[in-house]
Amino acid sequence: MNRNPVSFLGAEYDKLVTNELDWRLRVLQGPSTPKCVVDGSNVTMLCSNNYLNLSNHPKVKDAAIEAVRSHGAGSGSVRPIAGNMDLHIELERRLAAFKDAEASLVYQTGFAANSGLIPQLVDEGDLMISDELNHGSIIDGVRLSKADRAVYKHCDMDDLREVLENAEMHKPSYRRILIITDGVFSMDGDVAPLDKIAALAHDHGAMVYVDDAHGEGVLGDGGRGIVSHFNLSRDDVHVEMGTFSKAFGVVGGHVSGSRDLVNFAYNKSRTWLLSGSHPPAVAAACIAAIDVLETEPKHVKNLWRNTERFREQMQSLGFDTGKSMTPIIPIMVGDSGTANRFSARLYELGVFALPIVFPMVSKDGARIRTIMNSGLTVHDLDQAIAAFEKVGRELDMI
Ligand SMILES: *Cc1c(COP(=O)(O)O)cnc(C)c1O
Repeated sequence: MNRNPVSFLGAEYDKLVTNELDWRLRVLQGPSTPKCVVDGSNVTMLCSNNYLNLSNHPKVKDAAIEAVRSHGAGSGSVRPIAGNMDLHIELERRLAAFKDAEASLVYQTGFAANSGLIPQLVDEGDLMISDELNHGSIIDGVRLSKADRAVYKHCDMDDLREVLENAEMHKPSYRRILIITDGVFSMDGDVAPLDKIAALAHDHGAMVYVDDAHGEGVLGDGGRGIVSHFNLSRDDVHVEMGTFSKAFGVVGGHVSGSRDLVNFAYNKSRTWLLSGSHPPAVAAACIAAIDVLETEPKHVKNLWRNTERFREQMQSLGFDTGKSMTPIIPIMVGDSGTANRFSARLYELGVFALPIVFPMVSKDGARIRTIMNSGLTVHDLDQAIAAFEKVGRELDMI
């Protein structure tokens, strides 16, 4: 037999290209800064998660360089064997203090935290309840568990109550119930009603797990995140998960909560136990990023100043910014074709903002998703707004 066993690779890729569902990767030439170079053009960056521009903060960069000098380029192992460095421990101590939690645990990525921890919290005979718009890494974590699953309508507390009451009525034998939600939803920029979720969970004896990847550095006192934003306690929210790859400007996932949670999590999460630990430069840069958040409140303040200015001006031009309550500001466009044309024209005018189209959002829910940055000047914003206005008129949207 002379069959090519890997012919499907090219065929699958060609299918994606034909349907315009393949990723055409842009190349960032230099640092991720509010003004940067993408594919050879100078552009204003409106789609990075580097909310506070901390990836370019001198303290953060210097900490990374210094850690290479003092600790080398790599950690040499997984944390449970020989790769548990003083820098990793220091980072967890600093993060727990920042989050006002008893303890924190750092994973290699946020994806590794969700996919490693969620399936350990619930198993056969348990129930997981998830918001329908939760992040893909939560969905993968959910898929790795043998627990029963239920999904509630996006941020719909009546629906969540119904799911909880149904579970109580039809299967009172569930050992554990886990409610999981994003804190800030990445496609719309809306905020989960975590206070109400916690209250419902309390009534039904359920655990609460929040993924605050887009809330950290953004919401709450000094950017401490959604738990701080709602003034909730560790008895209300049992697992606060987050990432260093967004507002903190580096990379790495984390969970915060009780000492019991952390002891359980690192002994049980396969992603944590079986994957090499962060290079020293990563841990040191994350510590420095926490330092900056604790000592320089201007970054979070500027982020919100820019967010409010941009959202208000876009709305007054007649654009629909959807449900945005945070620095994630979608500009609703409608169909995918228009969204793609909109983004391409923006790029020609020096604004880098990508379209979000089906299947990531519904067929008529295509949008340009913008993400604000504390480092954008008023002048940068005004230029970007002018570009949106021009393209919006060209495409008869405003
Ligand atoms: C980005 C993101 C993650 C993944 O975090 P990484 O550290 O980049 O792996 C998880 N959850 C949500 C909601 C995110 O937006």
